[in-house]
Amino acid sequence: MLDKKKFYINGEWIDPKSNQTIDIINPATEDVCAKISLGNKEDVNEAVQSAKNAFKTWAFSTKEERLAPLEKLYELYKKRWADIAEAITLEMGAPKDFATKLQAGTGAAHIKTFIRYLKEFNFEKPLGEHAKNQRIIYEPKGVCALITPWNWPMNQTCLKVMPAIASGCTMVLKPSEVAPLSAMILTELIHEANFPKGVFNLVNGDGANTGDALTSHPDINMISFTGSTRAGALISQNAAKDFKRVSLELGGKGANIIFNDADPKAIDRGALRCFRNSGQSCNAPTRMLVEKSMYAQAVERVKQFADEMKVGDPNEKGDHIGPVVSEIQYKKIQSLIQKGIDEGATLIAGGTGKPDGIEKGYFVKPTAFADVSNNMEIARTEIFGPVLSIIPFENEEEAIEIANDTDYGLTNYIQTQDKEKANRVARKLRSGMVDVNGAGIAVDAPFGGFKHSGIGREAGKEGLLEFLEVKSVGGWN
Ligand code: NAD
Repeated sequence: MLDKKKFYINGEWIDPKSNQTIDIINPATEDVCAKISLGNKEDVNEAVQSAKNAFKTWAFSTKEERLAPLEKLYELYKKRWADIAEAITLEMGAPKDFATKLQAGTGAAHIKTFIRYLKEFNFEKPLGEHAKNQRIIYEPKGVCALITPWNWPMNQTCLKVMPAIASGCTMVLKPSEVAPLSAMILTELIHEANFPKGVFNLVNGDGANTGDALTSHPDINMISFTGSTRAGALISQNAAKDFKRVSLELGGKGANIIFNDADPKAIDRGALRCFRNSGQSCNAPTRMLVEKSMYAQAVERVKQFADEMKVGDPNEKGDHIGPVVSEIQYKKIQSLIQKGIDEGATLIAGGTGKPDGIEKGYFVKPTAFADVSNNMEIARTEIFGPVLSIIPFENEEEAIEIANDTDYGLTNYIQTQDKEKANRVARKLRSGMVDVNGAGIAVDAPFGGFKHSGIGREAGKEGLLEFLEVKSVGGWN
């Protein structure tokens, strides 16, 4: 069992003030694999004070002073890539290949792209040719609280830490108490990369204690949070008291609109995008909307795909899916599958209980429901498990109406070979992202949602701007 009880504050690994600990559970075996500390108010105060002190100089650091350690960090990350992937497999159950290529891979991609955006970004410029002595200055927002979830741990951590560093902010990271191990390796690399003391600090702990202490701390200027809509609302209340800047990346209930002229691989692609990472992605296309003229055929194809989807040991190589992250999530998913059955949706694959032959671990059967109506709970709640709902539609107008009839608005998907129709529908979908024919959303494209899916954007230039205040100076010489 790993002893991970130290925090990283002011450039060193220190013993926490709190003596409370949390067990980290390997979801594939249900065994305790590590222990972390549960930070209390004193721990949070110390970390925030360290970031506050460092801000005084880091805020005025040059591009070169930020680029040098970031570039070193990227090199160090590539060397420890396999360790990071292994930690992700251990803490949240992502299978080896997926953890290596996608989970750890997205972390590396974000470090690399933020280096590029930092190089390109112009932090000071005139308002325009017409007003040359009006200066626009982009300044760091200040001391940031970065709070991350467990489902894409390195992706979400790097999406926050890298632009915060690049913009000149200082920070306290509180990773998910369910999956903090990869973030602790990243912290080792940040230490090795020689950032000035206090620029980056890490405190572990849960949401109700440590997260709350951090987001209500008066010296925090900005909160960047990814996780549940429930926690996002609580954090916003804390922030409102003293006008902290808030960036929220919350849940989703993406629609995948499959028109009858979609390419033949669209159904498989949609089911895979729903099931991969064991369904634990905020942008998963969990509602498959299918044009009635091809509905029966699509249902049959999804059934076959889900039946053939392999579930198994995340330590093995291959394209199978692993367990879901925790017992809490397992039970929540089981009860929502049961709810779907009780509400009268047609279960075509999977169902409640563990996959055949699996006794231990939080493994869920890839599950698909047909004849789902959009007002059923399985079509409205973010299940965060490998559960797909298939909903028929009559025409384009109805497809758009169903897709938009949700509290969320993160990512929607369109499958059609009619280019004009694809663009027309993309404009009408109320979501931060739209993926047409599996093209994917670029690593540096703005990532974020409409409605209950959040506020603000991560990744690329927009992600950098989230950490910057804008100052206008008249009479610049
Ligand atoms: P959560 O929102 O409770 O936790 C995410 C992070 O926020 C963790 O670091 C947690 O400690 C922290 N946190 C929780 N409550 C807080 C509070 N009041 N103040 C400050 N920080 C707080 O998410 P979870 O419990 O891990 O998962 C629950 C559900 O959230 C999932 O079923 C899923 O629907 C959703 N979720 C969404 C995403 C996403 O990427 N959109 C990610 C993870 C979870």
